[in-house]
Amino acid sequence: MEVLPLVPKLHFFKPCGATSKRSGLPCSQPAMKNGRCRFHGGKSTGAKTSQGKQAQRQANLKAGLHTKEAIAERQEVRELLNQCKAVLRQV
Ligand SMILES: [Zn+2]
Repeated sequence: MEVLPLVPKLHFFKPCGATSKRSGLPCSQPAMKNGRCRFHGGKSTGAKTSQGKQAQRQANLKAGLHTKEAIAERQEVRELLNQCKAVLRQV
């Protein structure tokens, strides 16, 4: 009976969860603790100070259509329009 040697699985790692911008394929690098490889923010621990977190939010804000205030405002307008429609139906 042949006994196979115990070879460690060199490719037994959790892959990085990032997707390539150009090819659309998932990244094949091994992930670090935060689930990303060294190329996709694996070493980064993110913004720590409140000032840094605020700067990050501002950098990611594009038009503000999906902020809590904008969503609440649209909902108020929608409710007002529905009330107007209900009044007009009664007339
Ligand atoms: Zn990656």
